[in-house]
Amino acid sequence: MKDRFGREITYLRMSVTELCNLRCRYCMPAEGICKRSHDEMLSQEETLLALRVAAELGVRKLRVTGGEPLVKPNILDICAGAAQIPGIEEICLTTNGILLPGLAKPLKQAGVSRLNISLDTLDERKYAWMTRVGALDMALKGIEAALDAGFEHTKLNAVLIGGWNDDEIRPLAELSLRWPVDVRFIELMPMTDKAAFGPEAFIPCSRVLQALPELVSVGRSDGVARMYRLPDAQGSIGLISPLSAHFCASCNRLRLLADGRVKPCLHSALEFPVKGLDYEGMRRQFLAACAAKPERHEELSYTQRSGANRSMNRIGG
Ligand code: SAM
Ligand code: SF4
Repeated sequence: MKDRFGREITYLRMSVTELCNLRCRYCMPAEGICKRSHDEMLSQEETLLALRVAAELGVRKLRVTGGEPLVKPNILDICAGAAQIPGIEEICLTTNGILLPGLAKPLKQAGVSRLNISLDTLDERKYAWMTRVGALDMALKGIEAALDAGFEHTKLNAVLIGGWNDDEIRPLAELSLRWPVDVRFIELMPMTDKAAFGPEAFIPCSRVLQALPELVSVGRSDGVARMYRLPDAQGSIGLISPLSAHFCASCNRLRLLADGRVKPCLHSALEFPVKGLDYEGMRRQFLAACAAKPERHEELSYTQRSGANRSMNRIGG
């Protein structure tokens, strides 16, 4: 499926739940979110039907996300079902890592090819503060479980927050010396209505280059991350700059939300529901979403907030 601007859509980011076992301040309110009734969300059968439609239309790569995908009770069945769909070549999953000690091996057996694990700090107190309910030790055990289960090319994602973790750029980057992982720094996006942080929190990825002058450029990956490497590291360092250098021109993705809405752009309120539809109905909605994909999103900044009508946990980062 090609959009109006000639971009081939081959990548689907699928949120399987809005719920989470953490409450990161840049993503969720302290009280979490209202649990919606089962009937409002896609069933497992509908999810797999939507994936068949997407694959038939040319989607080759699937990213499973949330909320926290590993709190979804049938996550292994969803991944195993997705892995059976002709055309789906790669299933990646983004997680906070907390539940990986019990789930890393079963996920691998279910057909998940790669993991992204979120880790914004290596300081126990800061981790507890940012996630409101989490413990750093559990996230680190999750990373080790992923490596033990044999996952390769695991990525650790750190959201850069000025005045909070910009003093940890070096220790976070040096995880690529200790483990065979890529460490990626991501600019904080102004997603929620109420700003969780002041303007000083939005710092560009160029701050990473200043903090690590020895980084060597090694090109780009997926058209999204600019890639670098520390000398003698096992993995690379990626910089993802949705604010300072958006990547709309090479955007190849659609999003499928847990309640069955197909979203053409993270930062737009456009949505195309597929819940309750049959194969043909879903196909029409996917094609409509593709046709409506905007050329680019508005410039984002601390004062110009995202045009998305939902917070990140409800879209799927
Ligand atoms: N719960 C999983 C996790 O944390 O990895 C998956 C969902 S989470 C919404 C996906 C990613 O979005 C995480 O890496 C998180 O740090 C990132 N994220 C959430 N809110 C963000 C924001 N306002 N700006 C930038 N990244 C954000
Ligand atoms: Fe949960 Fe991920 Fe959002 Fe943190 S970033 S609250 S782990 S969904």
